[in-house]
Amino acid sequence: MSSSFDLGDKEAGTKALEDLTKNVKQTQDNVLQDILNCNVNTEYLRGFLKGRTDKDLFKENVPVVNYEDVRPYIDRVANGEPSEIISNRPITGFLLSSGTSGGAQKMMPCNNKYLDNLTFIYDLRMLVISKHVDGVEHGKGMMFLFTKPELVTPSGLPARAATSSYFKSDYFKNRPSNWYYSYTSPDEVILCPDNRQSLYCHLLCGLVQRNHVVRVGSIFASVLVRAIKFLEDFWMELCSGIRSGHVSDWITDLDCKNSIYRILDGPRPELADTIEQECNQKSWEGIITRLWPKTKYIETVVTGSMAQYIPALQFYGNDLPLISTIYGSSETTFGINLDPLCKPRDVSYTFMPNMSYFEFIPVDSKEDKIVDLKDVKLGCYYEPVVTNFSGLYRTRVGDILLVTGFHNNAPQFKFVRRENVVLSIDMEKTNEENLFKAMNKTKPLLESSGLMLIDFTSYAQTSTISGHYVLYWELVGKGKEGNPPINPKVLEECCFAVEESLDDVYKRCRSKDRSIGVLEIRVVQNGAFDSLMDFFISQGASIGQYKMSRCLKSAKALDIMEKSVTSRFFSK
Ligand code: AMP
Repeated sequence: MSSSFDLGDKEAGTKALEDLTKNVKQTQDNVLQDILNCNVNTEYLRGFLKGRTDKDLFKENVPVVNYEDVRPYIDRVANGEPSEIISNRPITGFLLSSGTSGGAQKMMPCNNKYLDNLTFIYDLRMLVISKHVDGVEHGKGMMFLFTKPELVTPSGLPARAATSSYFKSDYFKNRPSNWYYSYTSPDEVILCPDNRQSLYCHLLCGLVQRNHVVRVGSIFASVLVRAIKFLEDFWMELCSGIRSGHVSDWITDLDCKNSIYRILDGPRPELADTIEQECNQKSWEGIITRLWPKTKYIETVVTGSMAQYIPALQFYGNDLPLISTIYGSSETTFGINLDPLCKPRDVSYTFMPNMSYFEFIPVDSKEDKIVDLKDVKLGCYYEPVVTNFSGLYRTRVGDILLVTGFHNNAPQFKFVRRENVVLSIDMEKTNEENLFKAMNKTKPLLESSGLMLIDFTSYAQTSTISGHYVLYWELVGKGKEGNPPINPKVLEECCFAVEESLDDVYKRCRSKDRSIGVLEIRVVQNGAFDSLMDFFISQGASIGQYKMSRCLKSAKALDIMEKSVTSRFFSK
């Protein structure tokens, strides 16, 4: 079903989207029926359904599970047993979830249906953007896209990040030759296994073709911020390469290097001068629009834990529209933002009923009955549960979503947070959303002293009595004078603003019971979060899908932060 629409044709695409969102119930029923008809004889489903495929029985007998519950089945396929344990359609590989936002890395079974769905959503995204952004068809995208080397399971199947799977597949290789898939970087750069070389080459290609760039982006905002910071460190080297027509010696990946030379096309001293002039200015405010003047918008996810990067991107991008397009995971693609030019805080994703069979566990409500996609209620919170085409049945995703509206009959969800509690010392439970809200409260204080929070993470320090919250902050100067000195008073006020914003249980533990000590902010030197990201990537996270862990648990990660602490501040 998913590949039968021609989304390249605006009229046909719009009609397809309308039909799909009107027929939510029917499409969901069909999806479930297809999945059950195909997989009823798998070892997993046979145990629950005894060969029957009716929806009621599925809901009654197949348990709602966490990844850990089905992990033994997935591991068996990874270790060489046949796919039919979980999926009648052969499993062709595994998708490694980023694992940095919510704990350990997961390995999801995958087959071509996953990539069919992803391609459908990408085409849909192209349709939506072309309807909202004028002239975007006339130019290229400078997109920071990456591939990570794959692992091979004992069964000989590749295990890699979802985005790497797509870039390495024929779907990407044979993608349509239209504006949306036209990038400043050649495929060799996206496919380069060394992310550092790849990042350098992405920037070089983007700079050389600066007058063709109409959109700039990455899958998640953290990657784009990192790319700009890399440019801050490497612009002189990049300029000298453009001036002389040579790429740096450390670009050793031959495919990458050869592809770059085709784009570089000899010495370009004038271009190098122009770029140098912009980068040489003390403030990097608006650097994206200065270096790439035709950019119409920034395409990158800035919802959920990525909201943290909005101020940095607004600063670098001179308030260009920030477009969050897709909500997806290694389990499935969920949906798309149909109002791309809305403010980041208003982004909702319309679920596409042909992607997987979706159910929803109500959160924070008396109702505990799991509901279908068509039955979710406006204003209610839910955790999605996925039954997909590649061997996951009623698997909890661990995200919390809020229903904000409907497009025809298709519900629209705002991403609220990951399900997990990130910080807890006593009775209080502070989650990702609480932390983000608290960070937002400090924004005006920082701004008034010319500072901007570039990234943060936290840690529940429980080794001392009483334990307390520690926040690691990386700050940069907003003004023309680079990083201003930190005024301790302002940081102390920030500590207080964070505590004020946390919930009543926290406040009670803190002031009445005194079971929680004063909150502490530890400022780290610039680049500390890049080192942390490098560490997580070395542990298996993919740069393309990287999400900063908002609460550190790993001793090694903590060690990286501790080594770069420059000053400490406490709530008064
Ligand atoms: P992964 O399986 O590594 O691709 O990570 C998937 C997770 O990333 C989701 O379950 C969400 O927690 C998060 N995520 C993906 N897309 C978005 C989005 N558009 N907004 C916020 N969070 C997202």
